[in-house]
Amino acid sequence: MNIQPIFDRPNNRPVLIAGPCSAETEEQVLQTARELAQLGYVDLFRAGIWKPRTRPGEFEGIGTVGLGWLRKVKEETGMKTTTEVANTQHVFEALKYGIDVLWLGARTTVNPFSVQEVADALKGVDIPVIVKNPVNPDLKLWLGAVERIYNAGIRRIAVIHRGFSHHGETSYRNVPRWQIPIELRRLFPDLQIICDNSHICGRRDTLLDIAQRALDLNYDGLMTEVHPRPDEAWSDAAQQITPAQYGDLVSHLKLRQLSSDDPEYVHNLEHLRHEIDEIDEELLNLLGRRMQLAEGIGRYKNATTSPSSKPTAGRRSWTAASPKARIKA
Ligand code: PEP
Ligand code: MN
Repeated sequence: MNIQPIFDRPNNRPVLIAGPCSAETEEQVLQTARELAQLGYVDLFRAGIWKPRTRPGEFEGIGTVGLGWLRKVKEETGMKTTTEVANTQHVFEALKYGIDVLWLGARTTVNPFSVQEVADALKGVDIPVIVKNPVNPDLKLWLGAVERIYNAGIRRIAVIHRGFSHHGETSYRNVPRWQIPIELRRLFPDLQIICDNSHICGRRDTLLDIAQRALDLNYDGLMTEVHPRPDEAWSDAAQQITPAQYGDLVSHLKLRQLSSDDPEYVHNLEHLRHEIDEIDEELLNLLGRRMQLAEGIGRYKNATTSPSSKPTAGRRSWTAASPKARIKA
């Protein structure tokens, strides 16, 4: 594949993408944009217009009217804009309103039908596209989405690492599994990688740590959710920060001098360290769960062997003569 970079990075400076999880009101979008523009270094303003929510009843996005607000952001502040698209209509509307960069969300990347629909809508259009990782840790699915977009003729493609769904206790909202994006970069060194620290962390206090890890792993940039009043946000309130807090986060980032000239060596070392951290965390969680289960077994045995509560349940076996299941009329 002949993938082209989306972003220029003079002096290896990280690409900074910031803005609210969702566009909620014109005032909220413009206030965020004005305050971010004042920082002077935000490359791309993000805001979700159509929100794929895990469960119905949550805020599902303001829709097309919000695209007009993003157009105003660009006119007023000069910042370029980006939003998530998940179907043909989203693509057409976003293009109509002059959105500069499109992104595919994790719940879209996971579905080849949806990715193909977006790719088909993009045929003959020259616009940069960023592909988020799928919700599940499947490198092929992620790559497949990049390939579908590429096959539609798009050449400026990047990826966003936003972590992966995980069952059980973890301090992350989406566990990073750094080895997956690192493997992607090994396969396609030209693909720029952005870390979405907001969706990995799901909380504010760890955003800097994850952002710094990403930069230490030579990521090309960060995507971070910023809201003027984070606690009142209509989506992802717990992970959003104010523009001032964002400025503070960026000011603490360090572009480290790598100790070896061999990027492969550095990558692999970091990769292994992060993998150990993740395994340590999983081990602690598993041990905690094991202890709980062991206690549960003890309680269950005590209860079922007491004279007053003998277990009575038995099992009936299934035979071919058992009645068939029927679809209800
Ligand atoms: C988002 O960026 O607000 C979003 C919905 O992200 P993801 O697709 O990573 O869940
Ligand atoms: Mn979000």
